Amino acid sequence: MATEQSAITRATFDEVILPIYAPAEFIPVKGKGSRVWDQQGKEYIDFAGGIAVTALGHCHPALVDALKTQGETLWHTSNVFTNEPALRLARNIIDATFAERVLFMNSGTEANETAFKLARYYASTRHSPWKTKIIAFHNAFHGRSLFTVSVGGQPKYSDGFGPKPADIIHVPFNDLHAVKAVMDDHTCAIVVEPIQGEGGVTAATPEFLQGLRDLCDQHQALLVFDEVQCGMGRTGNLFAYQHYGVTPDILTSAKALGGGFPVSAVLTTQEIASAFHVGSHGSTYGGNPLACAVAGAAFDIINTPAVLEGVQSRRQRFVDHLQQINQQYDVFSDIRGMGLLIGAELKPQYAGRARDVLYAAAAEGVMVLNAGPNVMRFAPSLVVEQEDIDAGMARFAAAVGKVVNG
Ligand SMILES: *Cc1c(COP(=O)(O)O)cnc(C)c1O
Repeated sequence: MATEQSAITRATFDEVILPIYAPAEFIPVKGKGSRVWDQQGKEYIDFAGGIAVTALGHCHPALVDALKTQGETLWHTSNVFTNEPALRLARNIIDATFAERVLFMNSGTEANETAFKLARYYASTRHSPWKTKIIAFHNAFHGRSLFTVSVGGQPKYSDGFGPKPADIIHVPFNDLHAVKAVMDDHTCAIVVEPIQGEGGVTAATPEFLQGLRDLCDQHQALLVFDEVQCGMGRTGNLFAYQHYGVTPDILTSAKALGGGFPVSAVLTTQEIASAFHVGSHGSTYGGNPLACAVAGAAFDIINTPAVLEGVQSRRQRFVDHLQQINQQYDVFSDIRGMGLLIGAELKPQYAGRARDVLYAAAAEGVMVLNAGPNVMRFAPSLVVEQEDIDAGMARFAAAVGKVVNG
């Protein structure tokens, strides 16, 4: 017999979920476009998009339609079979990018785990078993599996989980001299986010990425771009590498790829892909028809001039509001990022208060993100309406005022 269920509230979280998150006090229950409502019916304007995930807003009609249609057709087959939505999406990605081969997984972590395994495997089978060194960057974030937290440059996420995978070295981001000092023929890959997201919304300089490309070419190493956060239209290009004009050997995509449905992808060349063979790697759910149908619908909308060309003007509107807030309250030392991945760094007198601003913003009815303790981050829908930007930034301004005036 079913026992009577007590009401689901925020307090339930502490009773039933592992204590790895500190969710807000309210529980969102519904979303439409860039608006979200909680259990009490309070409305929020969403400039977080999950974390850069819902790139077409909540419950976009085309995505809902794809989900419903595929949901009534075929959800799952094992990878003993292939499926039409996955093949269609892979072909569209290949047509739009450097990629010649694609592999679908379920999360950014898994895409990166695949990319790092592929880089190691390619180097050890095509070059030498000693070509295993991975160069990565301080403050980088690549996911939460043991390999990906170890390649990530934030020890707080990997400490305590050792022994850690070996032969991974971290140097400062945007510092080409530091990379040169550790680069050698034993290096199998350099792994980099073209725009560091979690690490503080910091864009690579063009010279840095081009320099990494040159070093990889000189030492027969692979250049891996983690575009889990900065890809899929966020910069105004489909992928950030296209903005920089520097082409990686392997690229990972997730977050916005499914517009809110869990799916990720690894993009690479035929030559590198051919290092893998049947059985080298795999996933039960990766590339399932349901995920690929939704991602396919998202891709068809995001990869259009209408969406990509709208990113810059929307960014400008956000930046104008942020500068206005800064004139009034003098809180930001830097406004940065690219396209609709926007960072606003708090001045030293507000150091460590990004979470306070985030919670104050939620209280005012606007969802924003932080990126570390000192940077506010905005990753709204790529199709956010002008009136939502204006209304949401007015709420954000009120929140900043409350924090500043204590
Ligand atoms: C979010 C993120 C990941 C991890 O993705 P998950 O889907 O959470 O596993 C990896 N790399 C970058 C750059 C990210 O922003």
